[in-house]
Amino acid sequence: MDKRAKIFVAGHRGMVGSAIVRELQRQGYGNLVLRTRQELDLTDQRAVCEFFGRERPEYVFVAAARVGGIWANSTRPAEFIYENLAIQNNVIDGAYRAGVRKLLFLGSSCIYPREAPQPLKEEYLLAGRPEPTNQWYAVAKIAGIKLCQAYRRQYGCDFIAAMPTNLYGINDNYDPDGSHVIPALLRKFHEAKLGGQPAVTVWGSGRPRREFLYADDLARACLFLIDNYSEEEIINVGWGRDLAIAELAGLVAEIVGYGGEIVFDTDKPDGMMLKRLDVSRITALGWRPLVGLREGLQLAYDDMLRRLVFEQWHDLSPARQPGM
Ligand code: GDP
Repeated sequence: MDKRAKIFVAGHRGMVGSAIVRELQRQGYGNLVLRTRQELDLTDQRAVCEFFGRERPEYVFVAAARVGGIWANSTRPAEFIYENLAIQNNVIDGAYRAGVRKLLFLGSSCIYPREAPQPLKEEYLLAGRPEPTNQWYAVAKIAGIKLCQAYRRQYGCDFIAAMPTNLYGINDNYDPDGSHVIPALLRKFHEAKLGGQPAVTVWGSGRPRREFLYADDLARACLFLIDNYSEEEIINVGWGRDLAIAELAGLVAEIVGYGGEIVFDTDKPDGMMLKRLDVSRITALGWRPLVGLREGLQLAYDDMLRRLVFEQWHDLSPARQPGM
């Protein structure tokens, strides 16, 4: 990308979009087009079409999505499938009509089949059924990938799709019912420490294993891929390393400085027992992550504390967090 290129980051107020904007600014890209949800509703086809026709960006990062943890996914399926389908249809088709030079669509590791061999290789896409707890989100994201591939085949668009592993970082969502495991645990352990609670409850058995990537590392990967990747095939972004949720809980307790007991609530779902990406393709291109889990957790915790000084917990939840 030319440093003067006009770049639209869809979802720039969310965790991933704001990390992409920080990285673009750090690398000296000054011509960014950004719209809050109030300014541009990405589920509104006409508004998105008009926006593209007027602004004519050259590059697009699609970081706008309805996202959430295992509980939000299984209790709000309609929002997860409808909003994601609408946003990606509008943005991808709008980008094609406006002659965008390159677009990067972000999927997720949950697009892979529940029973796929681990680590998850890109070619396992659609080789089986997704994990039921997040199937709604997964089906929408798979449709987004296929949209990019179809527009490449039929119209020659240089639209690529990257699949990040589980993410965390600055600007995460801390709503207990909607959040992913890292912000949920940071908050639970922090509140337990302040309240002098003897125990913290972690959902599930503690045995599922997950891989976590710091959002700023994903942002670096996105810029890297825009410059170095132009294939129809999806590409994974992660560490290729995982740990058990029980180990993660121990690490979070240590970082927060909580010394009480950790108990597991097996009435809550475990989801996939293991999710680890095969990252050999992106590694072969010359990219690797930089922020290790301990360092990243400390950065995320610092951000949570900083935001809490200015906001209240209810302001750190998705209803108030313009992720799109
Ligand atoms: P997933 O990768 O789609 O399952 O997303 P999550 O980040 O929501 O969950 C990852 C794992 O952490 C699952 O096995 C959850 O059951 C477990 N987990 C443990 N405690 C919590 C919690 O307080 N919130 C969430 N969201 N997950 C938790």
